Amino acid sequence: MRKILIAGNWKMNLIPADGAALVDDLTARSGNWPDVDVVVCPAFTTIPAVALRLGGSPIQLGAQNMSDHDSGAYTGEVSGPMLLTVGCKWVILGHSERRQLFGETDTSVNSKLIKALSLGLKPIVCIGETLEEREAGRTIETVSRQLDGSLAGLTREDANQVTLAYEPIWAIGTGKVATVEQAGEVHSAIRSWCKEKFGAETAGWMRILYGGSVKPDNAAALLAHEDIDGALVGGASLKAEMFDGIIAAAK
Ligand code: PEP
Repeated sequence: MRKILIAGNWKMNLIPADGAALVDDLTARSGNWPDVDVVVCPAFTTIPAVALRLGGSPIQLGAQNMSDHDSGAYTGEVSGPMLLTVGCKWVILGHSERRQLFGETDTSVNSKLIKALSLGLKPIVCIGETLEEREAGRTIETVSRQLDGSLAGLTREDANQVTLAYEPIWAIGTGKVATVEQAGEVHSAIRSWCKEKFGAETAGWMRILYGGSVKPDNAAALLAHEDIDGALVGGASLKAEMFDGIIAAAK
């Protein structure tokens, strides 16, 4: 009932020509893909070149961040309406790199989320604990606090549009993947949180992705867990063969 979603976060990589070549390569492989949603999230300046190549491709387009304002004196920011004009349908919000390196908080993620929903952009909201929090036994407490803050004020209808991504910070870009047991435990706790907050039906629809060193060789086991509905992929989304391998693992 929940369609698997595989999203690639290209981070600050790939100039327009390289991004266009990567999606061309992926589109050429897409004939063999299972029935999943596939999204790529290039850097802002690469988005238009990628958008131009997506006609006839099953790949959907997203951004890695957005402002909570529509326009105005916000130097260096890019707004949701701007993302819509270049063909984005998705936006990643509250990635741990944004939280850790650029001072984003649950409160700022919440205002971006409310803005994205008001514009019809589909948000992927990231949450996840540090190694210190995990070792202190505070994983569930941490993600629950992040959910409380980031999803504050949302109605059930809003929540139906939201995708969550559980990304343990200690597993991002480190090659250390959470075991299916570790990830599954947190995913199930997140689903319970959603159920308590929005009811069983909405919780049953909401997709919860796993992110953190997903590769073709660990994807199938993670995606087989009943509460893991897809993957948010960093490093492995930069190589067509690897990303294609992760998509194929969703069979
Ligand atoms: C990410 O950046 O969201 C991510 C999960 O990165 P990686 O796959 O490289 O760990």
